[in-house]
Amino acid sequence: MQDKLHVLLSREQIIKKVEHLAQEISQEYQGEELLMICILKGAVVFFSDLIRSISVPVKIDFMAVSSYGKATKTSGVVQIIKDLDASLKGRHVVIVEDIIDTGLTLKYLVENLEARKPASLKICVLLDKVDCRQVEISADYQGFVIPDEYVVGYGLDCAEKYRNLADVCVLQRS
Ligand code: 5GP
Repeated sequence: MQDKLHVLLSREQIIKKVEHLAQEISQEYQGEELLMICILKGAVVFFSDLIRSISVPVKIDFMAVSSYGKATKTSGVVQIIKDLDASLKGRHVVIVEDIIDTGLTLKYLVENLEARKPASLKICVLLDKVDCRQVEISADYQGFVIPDEYVVGYGLDCAEKYRNLADVCVLQRS
C-alpha cells in the first residue's frame, strides 16, 4: 500500500492560526490562571506551540484516551488510558484537542471533566470536521474547519506515522 500526502494547511497558515488562538485565550483569561489539558498524543504539537504563545499564567496536564488505533474510523467507544494528575476543582480549564470529527471523544471528555467541578471548562481544537458530527458539541476556540478527509501531520498520525510533519496533509492510501 502506498501513501499519498497532499498539503491541506501549510506550516505558515498553522503558525498564524495558533498565534490568533493564543491571543483569544489570553484576552479571555486576563487576571486568571489557566490549566490547559493536552489530549495525547495527537494534540501534543499544537499544545506545545499554543501554550508558548499564551500570556496569562498556564499550568499543564495530560490525558490519553482511546482513539482509532490503526483504523481510520471511530469505534465510538471512548476509554481513558491515562488520567490527569491535577485536580480540576475550582480551576479554569481548557481542553486542547487536535481534531473534532464525530464529536464522541470530546462529548465524553467534557462530561467526565465537568463532573470534577472546574470553575470553567472550555474546548480548543485546531481542526474541526463540522460536517461529520454525530453528537452536539462545538469548540470555544476553533482553528480550521476542514472537509471530511483523513489528515495527518502536526501531531496527527496514521498508525503512529506522520506526526512529525510540519504541515497538515490529507492522506490518500492506494
Ligand atoms: P471523534 O471522537 O470526534 O470522532 O474523533 C476524535 C479523535 O479521532 C481525534 O482526537 C483524533 O485522534 C481522531 N481523528 C479524527 N479524525 C482524524 C483525522 O482526520 N486524522 C487523524 N489522524 N485522526 C483523526
